Amino acid sequence: MSERKLLKTAIEYMKGVGPQRADMLKKELSIFNFGDFLMQFPFRYVDKTQFHRIADIDEETENIQLKGVLRRLETVGDGRKKRLVGRFRDASGVIDLVWFKGAKYIEKQLQIGGEYVVYGKPNFFKSYKSIPHPEIELLSVKNAQEASSLDPVYSTTEKLKARGLDVKPIRKLKRKLVEAIQETDVPENLPEYIRTKLKLPSRYEALKHIHFPPDARSLKLAQNRLKFEELFFLQIKLLQTRGIRKDTLLGYHFEKVGDAFNGFYKQLPFELTNAQKRVIKEIRRDVATNRQMNRLVQGDVGSGKTICALMTMLLAIDNGFQACLMAPTSILAQQHFNNIKKDLEGLDINVAFLSGSIKGKKKRGKILSELADGTTQILIGTHALIEDPVVFKNLGLAIIDEQHRFGVAQRAKLWRKSKPYPPHVLVMTATPIPRTLAMTAYGDLDVSVIDEMPPGRKPVKTIHKTEAHRLRVFGFMKEEIKKGRQVYIVYPLIEESETLDLNNLMEGYESISREFPIPDYQISIVHGRMKPADKDFEMQRFARNETQIMVATTVIEVGVNVPNATLMIIENTERFGLAQLHQLRGRVGRGGGDAYCILMSSYKLSTESRHRIKTMCDTNDGFKIAEEDMKLRGPGNITGTQQSGILHLRIADLVKDNKILVTAREIAKRVLDDDLKLERPEHQPIKVHLASNRDGYKGWSRIS
Ligand code: ADP
Ligand code: MG
Repeated sequence: MSERKLLKTAIEYMKGVGPQRADMLKKELSIFNFGDFLMQFPFRYVDKTQFHRIADIDEETENIQLKGVLRRLETVGDGRKKRLVGRFRDASGVIDLVWFKGAKYIEKQLQIGGEYVVYGKPNFFKSYKSIPHPEIELLSVKNAQEASSLDPVYSTTEKLKARGLDVKPIRKLKRKLVEAIQETDVPENLPEYIRTKLKLPSRYEALKHIHFPPDARSLKLAQNRLKFEELFFLQIKLLQTRGIRKDTLLGYHFEKVGDAFNGFYKQLPFELTNAQKRVIKEIRRDVATNRQMNRLVQGDVGSGKTICALMTMLLAIDNGFQACLMAPTSILAQQHFNNIKKDLEGLDINVAFLSGSIKGKKKRGKILSELADGTTQILIGTHALIEDPVVFKNLGLAIIDEQHRFGVAQRAKLWRKSKPYPPHVLVMTATPIPRTLAMTAYGDLDVSVIDEMPPGRKPVKTIHKTEAHRLRVFGFMKEEIKKGRQVYIVYPLIEESETLDLNNLMEGYESISREFPIPDYQISIVHGRMKPADKDFEMQRFARNETQIMVATTVIEVGVNVPNATLMIIENTERFGLAQLHQLRGRVGRGGGDAYCILMSSYKLSTESRHRIKTMCDTNDGFKIAEEDMKLRGPGNITGTQQSGILHLRIADLVKDNKILVTAREIAKRVLDDDLKLERPEHQPIKVHLASNRDGYKGWSRIS
C-alpha cells in the first residue's frame, strides 16, 4: 500500500487554489481537503454530442446546447435596461444572446463571424427567442480542450465566482485531481462478492467516471455504484447501531399476560383489526425479551394506535410496572386521560393525570406521592411528567404520542426516570412516513405499521373551493348543522405570535358570527394566544356539543376527537403542508357517517399548491400523501428526518433511487445478520471504510 495521503491534503495546497480561495471553498462548500473536492460530484452534465436546433426551441425547452455563428453584437437600451445583444444563427434559425452584466468584458472576448458553442436556458416569448447569460465558447477551443463528450457541471456560488472559481476553472481543477488519483487513494470499500453480484464498477473507476464519463453508459454505471455505496453505508451504520443496541441494552422482562390485559381484551366492544393484532404481537415479542424496546408505531389518524398503546400499558401493569403516556399538548393529554379512564371502567386500575396547569400544591403533592409509592399505575400527561420532581416507583413503559414534538433533552430525561434499566419506549405517530424514508430515518428503530382502518370508516369527501363559493360553503355548513353535526373552521397560524394571522382569524370569526348569529348558533374559538384553561374550556364545550362551530388555528391538529364533527373547512389551504392538511382532515369522519373537508384557497395558486390540493382531493391514504409530500418537498423537509443522516446524501435520492435503497438495505441486512461486528475477512473493506469515515450520523434511537 502506498503511503500517499493525497486526499487528506488541505485544499489550499491544490495548484490554482491557494489560501484565499481555499477559505472560500471551506466556507461556501465545506471543502477542506482534496478528498472533499473529489467527493463533490457534478450536479449535471452538458452533453456535447447533442446540439439543439434553434427552430425547435419552445416554452418547454430546458437547458440546451447550440452550435452556430455569431452574426452581430450590439449594445441596446440605456440605464438599467442597457444590455449586450448577440445575434446567433444556426442552419435552422436565429436567437438572441443577452448579457445585462459584464458586457464590456464579454464584447471583447467575442468575434463576429466566429463559430461558437452556446449553452443555456432559452426564453421564448411570442416566437422571440433569447438566452440570457449563456455559456459561450469558440467551437475550435472547445473541441481541442476536452476529449469527453459529457462535461461535468459543478455547483458554485456567487462568492466563489467572484474569486475566479466559476464552472470552467472548477472543472479544470477537478480534471487535474482526477488525473492524479491512483487506485490506492480510493481503496475499494465494498466486498468483492457484492460488487460481482451487482455488477458494480470499482470505486476507483466510478470516481473517475462520475467526473469525466467517457460515455453515457459509463456514467450510468458510475452513478449507480456511488449511489449504492452511499445508501449501503448508511444502512450498515443504522442497522449496526440497532443490532448492537439490541445486543447490549437490557430492559425489563414482561413475561406475564395477566388480569389487566385479559380483562380489558374481554370487554373490548369491537374486534381488533388484523393490523392492530400484528402490532400488538410485535410489541409483545419485544417486551418479552430482556432487551429494551424502542418501537415506533405508525398509523393514520383513527387507525387505532391508542388501543395498541393502552394494551401495552396493561401488559406493564400485569408485570408489576407503572406506565406513562405523554402527549404534546394539554388538550390532547386530557383527552387521552378521559378516554382511557372510560376504556378501563370496571377494571381495577389507577390512572392519574399530570400537566403543568395543575398548580394546587396539595393536589400536585398527592399526585406525586401516589406515583412514588406505586398507587398510580398509569400516569397520563404532558411533558410535565418528565420534569425532575416527578418520581416513579417503577416505570416500565413510556408511550410517546406524536414523537416529533419532543426534543432530544426530553427523551434523555425520560430514560433516566427508571432504574436499573430504561423504560420500554413506544412512540406513536400519526404522520405517516414514506416507507423508503422510514427505512432510513428510523432505520435503527423498530417500526410497526397500522395500515388498515377499523371497519366502517369512510373516506372524508374532499373538495376545493375559492372565495367565489363562500356563500355556498356557508349554506352547506347550515345544512350539516341542521342535521345536528358540528363544523371545524381552521386558519393557518405559522407562529402563534404572528399578529397578522391572529387578525385574520379574528376577522374570520367575526364574519362567521354575523352569518351564524346567536341564539341559533354557538361558536367556539381556540387559538395559541389563549390561556390553556380557556382553550380547554372551549374545547370541552365543543366536545359536549354545546357549540356547533369551532373556529381554530392548528392547535386542534393533533389527536382531538369529536366524533360528531363531520365538516372541516380549511382556510388559506395553500399555506398548509400536505402532512398538516392530512392531519387536520383526520379530525372529521370519526363517527362513521359521511364526512366532508372543504379546502378554501385563493383563485390563483402556484403549481405546487395546486398539486397539494389535488392530492388531498384524490386520496385519504396517509402513506400515499406522504409519498407525494416527499416528492414535492424532498425528504429533508419531512417530519422526523432532520436528525437522520439522509439530509447529507451526496448523490442518492430517496425518491428516485428507491430500488437501489431497497437493494442496499437487503444486502446490508444480510451482511450484518451473521457478522454484526464486521469481523469476517471479506467484510474488512466495509469496516475499514467505516472507521475512516466517522462523519456526522447520529443514531436516533440512542436519544429516544
Ligand atoms: P389513533 O390513535 O390511531 O388516531 P384511536 O386509537 O384514537 O386512533 O382510534 C380511533 C377510534 O377508533 C377510537 O374511537 C377507537 O375506540 C376506535 N377503534 C380503534 N380500534 C378499533 C377497531 N378495531 N374497531 C372499531 N373501532 C376501533
Ligand atoms: Mg390518537
